Amino acid sequence: MVILQVPHPMLTCNLPYNDTPVPIEHTLVMLKMMNKLMADGLAANQIGYPFRIITVAPNLVMIEPEILEVEGELVADKEACLSLPNAVYSVERALKGVTVRYRDTWNILREHKFHGYTARVIQHEIDHLNGILISDRGTEI
Ligand SMILES: [Zn+2]
Repeated sequence: MVILQVPHPMLTCNLPYNDTPVPIEHTLVMLKMMNKLMADGLAANQIGYPFRIITVAPNLVMIEPEILEVEGELVADKEACLSLPNAVYSVERALKGVTVRYRDTWNILREHKFHGYTARVIQHEIDHLNGILISDRGTEI
């Protein structure tokens, strides 16, 4: 299994929502892949899965995550992406509070507010599910 890189079309498509639970083994593969690569997060389409799943290090799985509320001003900082090797972008994100609703691996609906770097990673990964890359959002540095 490899990480897809630009200009792979999976990286620029807006992934569909599903009525049926996503295959649980996909989330396990994603966690394993993310941790093996020592990445902070991973989106399903980066490894070719057409599902709205993200993982955030070390072990958070979010299925069909939706950002409900964003608090605070946008803060620019460096971001890199496994799908855009050797590039670093300055990207503005809300860091004070990002409330996300998602389903966990038991299909239980959860709602949680994230802050700081975790909030940044979650916004980066949810962008992936919508086909948005850091090259669309930021400036290369
Ligand atoms: Zn990325």
